[in-house]
Amino acid sequence: MSLTIQKAVKKLQTDVLVVGGGTAGFVAAIAAARNGARVTLVEQRDHLGGTHSGGMVMMIRSMRHMRAPRSAEHKKVMITQYESSFDDEQLVFSIAQEYLDRMLEIGSAWGSKGQATARQLFDPEIAKWVIEQMVVEAGVDVWFYSQTTDLLLSNGSVNGAIIENLQERIEIAAKVTIDATGDGNVCAAAGAGFEMGDPEAGLCQPMTLYFVMGGVALDRTLAYIKGHPDEFNHEYAETILRLRQEGKPITVLPFKAKIREAVERDEYPIPYGLEKVNPETLTYMARPMFRNGSFRYDLISHNMDMAYNVDATDRHALTRATIGMRDVAVRMAAFYRKYVPGYEDAYLVHTAQSVGVRDSRRIVGDYTLTKDDVLSGRHFEDGIGRYGSVVDVHDKDGKQSLLLAEVGGSGWFHIPYRSLLPRGIRNLLVAGRCISADYVAQGCTRSQAACMMTGQATGTAAALAIKAGVEPRAVEIAALQRVLMQQNQII
Ligand SMILES: Cc1cc2nc3c(=O)[nH]c(=O)nc-3n(C[C@H](O)[C@H](O)[C@H](O)COP(=O)(O)OP(=O)(O)OC[C@H]3O[C@@H](n4cnc5c(N)ncnc54)[C@H](O)[C@@H]3O)c2cc1C
Repeated sequence: MSLTIQKAVKKLQTDVLVVGGGTAGFVAAIAAARNGARVTLVEQRDHLGGTHSGGMVMMIRSMRHMRAPRSAEHKKVMITQYESSFDDEQLVFSIAQEYLDRMLEIGSAWGSKGQATARQLFDPEIAKWVIEQMVVEAGVDVWFYSQTTDLLLSNGSVNGAIIENLQERIEIAAKVTIDATGDGNVCAAAGAGFEMGDPEAGLCQPMTLYFVMGGVALDRTLAYIKGHPDEFNHEYAETILRLRQEGKPITVLPFKAKIREAVERDEYPIPYGLEKVNPETLTYMARPMFRNGSFRYDLISHNMDMAYNVDATDRHALTRATIGMRDVAVRMAAFYRKYVPGYEDAYLVHTAQSVGVRDSRRIVGDYTLTKDDVLSGRHFEDGIGRYGSVVDVHDKDGKQSLLLAEVGGSGWFHIPYRSLLPRGIRNLLVAGRCISADYVAQGCTRSQAACMMTGQATGTAAALAIKAGVEPRAVEIAALQRVLMQQNQII
C-alpha cells in the first residue's frame, strides 16, 4: 500500500502570483492588490514575514540613512545607539511605515508613530499577526503549507507556477509572477542567471539561528560591563547603562574575556564550519525583547554568526548546518549560564522558527547594482526608492570583524527598477535579498527596509503592467514612480 496521497490536479487563474510570503513578499502582495490586481500569495511555512518574523530578526535596518562608526571602538557605541536614533534622514515610508505604525499602535514596536529609528525594534511574534491582518484586508488569497515546485514556462515567459501541498497539485496561471523566495528559487528555475557568494571564493556570509534566553537578570550583567573597563570601553558602558535607565533598546556585545577563558577550557561552542573561534573578531549581539509596550530585560534574544560556508540552496547542506546551529545555541546557553553574570538561572526559551540566511543566490537582472553605486550614493532614472542603510557584510570565514560602510554622496542611492527584472525572462520580477546586486551591494539591499521597498515596487509594477496590457519590463517608469510617490514613497 502506498503512503503517498493521491493528488488532485486543480487549475486556478490569478493576475499576480507572489511566491514567498516573507519580508518582501507580504509587501509585494499588498501593493499589487491595492493597485487593483487579483493576487495569490504562496508560502511554504505557516506564517508570513519570513526572516523578519519567523527568523526572529527583530530589527528593521534601516528606514533611514545610517552613519557608519568612526573607529572599531566607536562601532560598539554606535551599534547600541542606532536602535533609539531618529537623527538621520528617513528615506523609506509607505507600506513599511504603515505596517510599523500598526505595530507601534499596539505596543509591538519601540518608538513613535510616523517615523522609524535607524534600527527599528519590534516584536517578531505579533509581527506575524499584524502582517496576516494587513494581507487579508488587502484581499490577497493566501496559501500556507504550499510550495512552488515548478513553473509554467514558455519561450522565456513565466506564466505562473505549480504549487503543491499534501493533498493537491495546483497549476496557477498568472499574468505576472514575483519571486520573493529570498533564495531566488523561481528565477533560477526559470533559467535566470545568478551569482553566489564573494567574488574571490564564492563563499556566502555566515548563517544564524536566533535564540532567546529567559530568566536573565540583565542589570547584573550590565553592572559587570560597567565594572570591567579593561574589557568594555567607558563610552559604551555609560551609553548602555543610560539607555537601560531610560527604558530604551540596548545591544549587549560579546564578553571577550569570558570567551577567551571558555575557549581555553574547551567550553565555548565553535560555530559550525569553523575549526576554532577568534574572540577578537566574532560577531555576536544580545538584545532585550520588546513585548507589550516595554523591553523585557529578562528575555534576551541572541544573534551570533553560527554556520560558515553553507550553500542555503542545497537542502542537505542546510540540514546539516541547521542541526549544527541548534547544537551551538544549546551550548551557548550553557556557556552563558556558567560564565556570564546575570545568566546563572537563565534558560533557553526557544530557537527561531526558521534559520537566518544572509545571502545565497543574487539574480542577474537587467542592471546589477554595484558596491560603487551604493557607496557613492548613485541616483538612477529608473529609481524605485531611496536607500541609505549601512552596508553590513559579515566576514565569510570568521577571521575579520563585520564591515559597516556608509552610503556616501547625498546619503542615499536609488534602487533601479532594472535590478528587479531577471535578465532574459519575461513576466517575472524579483524582490528581497536576491535582487540583482553584487556581493557588497547586497550587504546593503538585503536589509529589511530595502526588501520591503523592492517588494512594494514589484507588486505595484506588476499591477500597472497588467492594467496597461504590457509585460513588466515595458512598464512606463514615470507612471510607476508616480504611483509609488502617491503611496507615500520618496523617489
Ligand atoms: C541572522 C540575520 C540577521 C539580520 N539582521 C538584520 C537586521 O538587523 N536588520 C535588517 O534590516 N536586516 C537584517 N537581516 C537581513 C534581513 O532580515 C533579510 O535579508 C530579509 O528579511 C530577507 O527578506 P526576503 O523577503 O528576501 O526573504 P525572507 O524574509 O526569508 O522570505 C522568503 C520567504 O519565501 C518562502 N519560500 C521560499 N521558497 C519558497 C517556495 N518554493 N514556495 C513557497 N514559499 C517559499 C520562505 O518560507 C520565506 O517565508 C538579517 C538577516 C539574518 C539572516
